[in-house]
Amino acid sequence: MASITRLIYWLCIGIIVITALSILLTAWWLGQRYSHQVASEQIQRADYFLNAYLQSEETLHTTAVMGVITDFGFRRTVADGDPATITSMLDNHAQRVNLDLLMIADRDGKGLAAYGTSIDRQHISRLYELMKATPESPRLIALEHGFYWLYLSAIKAPHTVGYAIAGTALDRTKLRHIKTITGLDLLIHSRLRGYSLGSDSQLQQIVDPRLVHNDLPSLWQRQPFIHRQLDIASLPADDISVVISADLSAFHQQFDRFSRTLLIITAILVFIITLISLTVSRRMFMPLESLHKKLLYRASHDPMTGLSNRITANENFHRQLNQAQRTGKPLMVALLDIDHFKQINDSLGHAAGDQVLTEVAQRLKRCLRQYDVLGRFGGEEFIVVISLPQGDSEGQLQRLKNTIADSEFIYKGNALSLTISIGACFVDFASYKDPLSPGKLLEWADQSLYQAKGKGRNKIVIKHCLQKTTRITTLD
Ligand code: GH3
Ligand code: MG
Ligand code: MG
Repeated sequence: MASITRLIYWLCIGIIVITALSILLTAWWLGQRYSHQVASEQIQRADYFLNAYLQSEETLHTTAVMGVITDFGFRRTVADGDPATITSMLDNHAQRVNLDLLMIADRDGKGLAAYGTSIDRQHISRLYELMKATPESPRLIALEHGFYWLYLSAIKAPHTVGYAIAGTALDRTKLRHIKTITGLDLLIHSRLRGYSLGSDSQLQQIVDPRLVHNDLPSLWQRQPFIHRQLDIASLPADDISVVISADLSAFHQQFDRFSRTLLIITAILVFIITLISLTVSRRMFMPLESLHKKLLYRASHDPMTGLSNRITANENFHRQLNQAQRTGKPLMVALLDIDHFKQINDSLGHAAGDQVLTEVAQRLKRCLRQYDVLGRFGGEEFIVVISLPQGDSEGQLQRLKNTIADSEFIYKGNALSLTISIGACFVDFASYKDPLSPGKLLEWADQSLYQAKGKGRNKIVIKHCLQKTTRITTLD
């Protein structure tokens, strides 16, 4: 019964623990998935924002460059092709518009003048060659000293007389502005020029754009950062790449806090449930257990004296006898009988007899060791079994006899002097090898008791069983 309860109990605990672990694992998995999703959404937003930002820059360039190239006088000057005049007019016009860079080429693409940068005319021609395939569509170009967002437009008077290349520089301030809006760091890298620009200078050191690929990290990798290349159609793919970096550490911290809380709550729950299960099962089975113990005690003990009853004392005696025979040790079996006990009953009543019996039992018990056998054998008769050498056994029996005779028993103010007679049988199994039954030993002890009574009571008669013979000793 109890083992089934224990099994059910542990099964329940197991189920609770497994459930708690599954909840934790699921929460963790969902958290990881969510972080994955958060990262994807952030990147998409950055993609969208960056494209929108570039488009707004394009509008700005178009408006600014139109302001310059639609001026009739400037168009005429370009048509005349005098670099000195063009330079002076270009400076005047460019100062009015919000452009970092403005360059003029003739209709063959040859460089004529430049504003805002120390670029030489050959470079203007090269830029023209680069951009003439897609006029009027802005491009991100890496020059010697930085990244520029450039736009090529024809100067017409009324036919094309030259080209204007206008643009703004993409510096760290602009990248930081993008970061404030998207929450993402940007890193722009030019493969041909071999330099990078990042919204975070550290990013430039830790991210190698050549190693960044577009796959998001797997669920099982807890990366504080994820880096990904943006897919912008207008970038010169052979040169410039843009890497965005999302910082997931704050998200991970938040998620860790959440899982810690979940773990603590689960642990507390498991603890409380364990406590409740233990209390409930104890409450359910304790009454049965204590009843079982009570019944066992009643079945094996004498209710009045609290000593072992005859059955238990006999069992213990058999066990001691077996052990002594097996190990070759000595054994003393003694029957103790209160002398003239009937007189107490007759003179003071049965209750007095009961109290005397109880006190005799207590006195005997105090004289013996815990592992000696002591039991109530019958009415006013006790059994004692001791496994000690002959001299010690005899001494022990004398102590038992004296503990009764030496001090009076008091019942309701009456002092009673009592004595006991002891009949015993001693066998030393080191020398005695014949088979010997417990019944035989008891019979011999009983015969000794009879003799002790016959010798005037308050005596000890011991029958020593030797191989083939016996010897009787009487002690006072
Ligand atoms: P002896 O010296 O020869 O042993 O004399 P005795 O009077 O002690 O022995 P006897 O056998 O004549 O009497 C034993 C008495 O013990 C008889 C019985 O009424 C009494 N007795 C047995 N069990 C109990 C008990 O549990 N309580 C009480 N009060 N008396 C008991
Ligand atoms: Mg008797
Ligand atoms: Mg008696």
